[in-house]
Amino acid sequence: MGEKFLQHIENQLSEIEQAGMYKRERQITSKQSGRIDVRLNGVEHDYVVNLCANNYLGLADNEQLVDAAKTALEEQGLGMASVRFICGTKDTHRELEQKLAKFLGKDDSILFAACFDANGGLFEPLLSKEDAIISDSLNHASIIDGIRLCKAVRYRYQNSDMVELEQKLIEAKEKGARYIMIATDGVFSMDGHLAKLPEITALAKKYNALVMVDDCHATGFMGPQGRGMPAHFNVSDDVDLLTGTLGKALGGSIGGYIAGPQVIIDLLRQRARPYLFSNSLPPMIVAAGLIAIELVEVADDLRLQLFENTKFWREGLTDLGFELLDGSHPIVPVMLGEAKLAQDMAAQLFDEGVFVAGFFFPVVPKGLARIRTQMNASLTREDLEFALTAFEKVGKSLGIIK
Ligand SMILES: *Cc1c(COP(=O)(O)O)cnc(C)c1O
Repeated sequence: MGEKFLQHIENQLSEIEQAGMYKRERQITSKQSGRIDVRLNGVEHDYVVNLCANNYLGLADNEQLVDAAKTALEEQGLGMASVRFICGTKDTHRELEQKLAKFLGKDDSILFAACFDANGGLFEPLLSKEDAIISDSLNHASIIDGIRLCKAVRYRYQNSDMVELEQKLIEAKEKGARYIMIATDGVFSMDGHLAKLPEITALAKKYNALVMVDDCHATGFMGPQGRGMPAHFNVSDDVDLLTGTLGKALGGSIGGYIAGPQVIIDLLRQRARPYLFSNSLPPMIVAAGLIAIELVEVADDLRLQLFENTKFWREGLTDLGFELLDGSHPIVPVMLGEAKLAQDMAAQLFDEGVFVAGFFFPVVPKGLARIRTQMNASLTREDLEFALTAFEKVGKSLGIIK
C-alpha cells in the first residue's frame, strides 16, 4: 500500500483530533445496566451511573431474556451460517416476524441484522426514478443512506416544518411524481422531540403519499403497550411502514425490522439487499426477541418507572438551572453551546461517577453542543439523586449554573 495513501488517512485523523471531535471509547467491563463498571485509559471506574444507554426499559440484562437466549443457544447453536433464503430461516424467525407485526398492528414484518440495514434496504426495492421521497432534515443516518441508494427523486424539509413538507409534496406532485413517500423518525434522537405524526399523516392523505416511520426511539415504551409513536398519536392506520430495532428498548441486543402491508413485506423479502446478502439473526437473539415483546406488552410498571424517572430528572436539572430542550421523552438534552464545554462536562461528570455523552457538530448543529442524557427504568431514585449532585458540582465548576 502506498505510503502516500496512509499519510492521507493519517492527516484526516489529525484533523478530527484537532477539531476536538475524536471519539475515544470507554470500555464497559460489567453488564449493560443502570450502574456499570467502566475502564478508561487503563483505570477502572466502578458502579458508575449510566445515563446514555438506549436501554429504556432496563431489559438489557433482564433475566428472562438472558435465560431465553441461553436455552436457544444450547438447543439451537450459535448461528445459522446462512442468509434467510438459503438455509437461514428457522421457525422462530417467522414467529418473531409475525409477533412483531401483530404488536405493531401490521400485516407482517421482515427481520434484518439491524435497523440500519432495514432502513438501508427499504427504499430501493419499493421506489424508482418516477417516484419521490420527502425526508425530514433530522432523520437518522441510516434513512439518509437508504434514500441515497434509491433512484427516487429526493426532497428534504427542515425538521418538523409542516409548511415546508407541504411545499415539497406540492412540488413533487407538480413534477409528476408517480408515488410519493414521506420518511421520518418517530422521535428525533438528538432532541427527544416527537415527529408530528398527526400533521404528517394528514398531509400524506391530502396528497396521496405513503408514510414511513422509523420508531427506534419509541417502540417498547411510547404509546399504549409500548406500540410506538403511531399508536401514541392514534394514527397507526395512516402509517404505512414502520422500522425499528431490537437494540434499544426491546432488550438492547441486535436486529432490525420493517413492518407493513403483506405485499410490501413479500416484495422486500425478494429484493431488499441487506436481507438477501447478509447473515440471518442468531436463534438466541430471536428467542430473546420473542420474550421481549411478551414482556414489553405488559410492562406498564416499567413504563411508569421510566416516565417517573424522566419527570424527576427533568425537574431536578431545571431546578439546578440547566437549560434543557423541552419535551417529555426519556431523551433529556442538556444544552451547552460549544463542543469543548460539552466534552469538558462529560469528562468531569465521569470523574464524579456519572457516564454521559457529549454531542457536538457534525452530529448536532454548530453552537448547539449538548450532553444527551437518557432515562431508563432500571435507574433508581438514589442513582438519579447521585447524578444530580454530580451535575450540580460540575455545572458550577464550569460556570454553567450559579
Ligand atoms: C438506533 C437507530 C437506528 C439503528 O438501529 P440499529 O438496530 O442499531 O442498527 C436507526 N434509526 C434510528 C432512528 C435509531 O435511533
